[in-house]
Amino acid sequence: MEKISVAVRVRPPIKQEVQKANQWTVGEKSIALYSAINPAVPVHSYVFDHVFGSQVKNADLYKIHIKEVIMSAVRGFNSTVFAYGQTSSGKTYTMQGSALDPGIIHLAIQDVFSTIYSTASREFLIRVSYLEIYNEEINDLLAPENRKLRMHENLERGIYVAGLREEIVSSPEQVLEFLAFGESHRHFGETNMNLYSSRSHTIFRMVIESRDKVNNSDASSDAVRVSTLNMVDLAGSERISKTGSGGVRLKEGTHINKSLMTLGTVINKLSEGAGRHGGHIPFRDSKLTRILQPALGGNAKTAIICTITPDEIHLDESRGTLQFANRAN
Ligand code: ADP
Ligand code: MG
Repeated sequence: MEKISVAVRVRPPIKQEVQKANQWTVGEKSIALYSAINPAVPVHSYVFDHVFGSQVKNADLYKIHIKEVIMSAVRGFNSTVFAYGQTSSGKTYTMQGSALDPGIIHLAIQDVFSTIYSTASREFLIRVSYLEIYNEEINDLLAPENRKLRMHENLERGIYVAGLREEIVSSPEQVLEFLAFGESHRHFGETNMNLYSSRSHTIFRMVIESRDKVNNSDASSDAVRVSTLNMVDLAGSERISKTGSGGVRLKEGTHINKSLMTLGTVINKLSEGAGRHGGHIPFRDSKLTRILQPALGGNAKTAIICTITPDEIHLDESRGTLQFANRAN
């Protein structure tokens, strides 16, 4: 398996933080925090595949860290891109972006279609789906009435979400419409949207199927390729002790922590090569890792963006995120 590619991104301070922003020192591949008392010695210091400072735009992050993963999905390899970090650290900004700074999902959609349009030798069929996992329940964002979907596994399809709607798409505009539709149905019956979105995982998925136009005899094993590209905006990684207050909220927190913890373990085992060496990888311990199982490990490509805030108040959470990133590295 290829190594999982891990990047850290520090977002710019938002207004009320400016006074208290701490000084993460960012290099191309390193991030460190120096002590005010002894500025020669870093208190924390890490190295990753890439580190992005507050000035970096989504387009640059995409080019450097993500594009290759998207291209390999078009070539037929299952691929997964994650954003991991505490609430308000910039996960959704990274995945979705803004009008001026389109996010990874938008850039990926453009790239997938421009590659398809310029690959005359193959014909492509693209399907999209969009789901959320909330309280270990899978809900379909393209068919909001489809709730509590189940996982199945069989020889023909492998591991899949039964009843999940898949829409065939033929242009970037069409994909963006489904994305917006799904987004508008994320908060089904919810009053506190921020809380809700910080506690659910979303997986936007493109299934890319292609067929060799010239050499489509059975003799060529490469004649038909099918791959899945997952783009995942994870629930906030903040520890629940800060926000939990018993009852329903605590239950949500427990589920989130469990699936993020399982994800951490799975990624860690994969990066240590457990799959290759026959070690056990606990994919089945959470819905999230179960759904992503076919696109993690094996010859799948994975890129992770761990987002942190520059705010001193969040130092503990930022360290937690950097430790997650470090385990994946
Ligand atoms: P999360 O999804 O992790 O909860 P958001 O993506 O919603 O966090 O980001 C929190 C706030 O910070 C939003 O107002 C967002 O626009 C802003 N923000 C996050 N990352 C950046 C960035 N790289 N550049 C500019 N603004 C950002
Ligand atoms: Mg978000």
